[in-house]
Amino acid sequence: MSKTDLHQTLLDICADMAGCNDKGAVANYIPELAKVSPDRFGISVCLADGQQFSAGDATARFSVQSVSKVFTLAIALGRYGDGLWRRVGREPSTHEFNSVQELELRKGIPPNPFVNAGALVTTDMILAGSTPAETLGEMLRFVRQAASDDDILIDPAVAASETITGHKNWALAHFLASFKNLEHPCERTLGVYFHHCAIEMTCEQLAHFGRFLAGFSHSPSLVSRDNVRSINALMMTCGHYNGSGEFAYRVGIPAKSGVGGGILAILPGKASIAVWSPGLNKQGNSLLGTRALEALSKSLEWSVFDSG
Ligand code: GLU
Repeated sequence: MSKTDLHQTLLDICADMAGCNDKGAVANYIPELAKVSPDRFGISVCLADGQQFSAGDATARFSVQSVSKVFTLAIALGRYGDGLWRRVGREPSTHEFNSVQELELRKGIPPNPFVNAGALVTTDMILAGSTPAETLGEMLRFVRQAASDDDILIDPAVAASETITGHKNWALAHFLASFKNLEHPCERTLGVYFHHCAIEMTCEQLAHFGRFLAGFSHSPSLVSRDNVRSINALMMTCGHYNGSGEFAYRVGIPAKSGVGGGILAILPGKASIAVWSPGLNKQGNSLLGTRALEALSKSLEWSVFDSG
């Protein structure tokens, strides 16, 4: 397939998505996110040769939410290596992304770094020795460096909105603390967590960010090749919460979603893809984003499980 064909495929997918009646439900437990129209859709693809193709709302900013769990994992792995796995597991979860029950069953060790409790632990780990402002500064530097773009910021209104309404995350933090799996006061770790979830990016910036995970660009200094492989493996097995098996079956590409409707998908050696559509399915993953990635993966035989 030629590059022009890839662009046409993205435009076709965009048109197909615009014609879908069911666009999913926009997250409303964070009031600021409920303000976004479910009709928005954007997609962007970076290829190994440096070219980038986009369609739809690919330059519109959206709240990355749980895609930021990739950022915290990358920094925590870089700093702690295998020491990370003493405090968080690396198995898919069968519960909801913010399940308190699962954390209690697992005696305070979250199943993986991509559910909320797991990301609270990685956030707590990268906070060690720094102030919240320094930690968020380090995260932003990391993301901007990988995306080669300094125009990436935190939306304080989204962070404030979740601070007030994110009761389940408060409960998860207190549970972690009760099992001695948080080293900082709950409000300190949660403050950093809510703020990195509120990082805003466009599809073009996010696809650019993912190039080091696809192996196209030098990794930001903290991320070794081994860690890139670990992150991609976790994206494949755990990146869509309790919808990860279904996503692997339908799309077959390591990917991480967020309740803002964004998905970062990494096809090692071939493509870094970002898609955004704010309407979610019942597991909290972008409905049209998943559908678009399935269409792209099938038409280009881009699943990691394709034999061609
Ligand atoms: N900030 C969101 C929360 O903690 C992130 C969840 C998500 O994107 O899946 O609930």
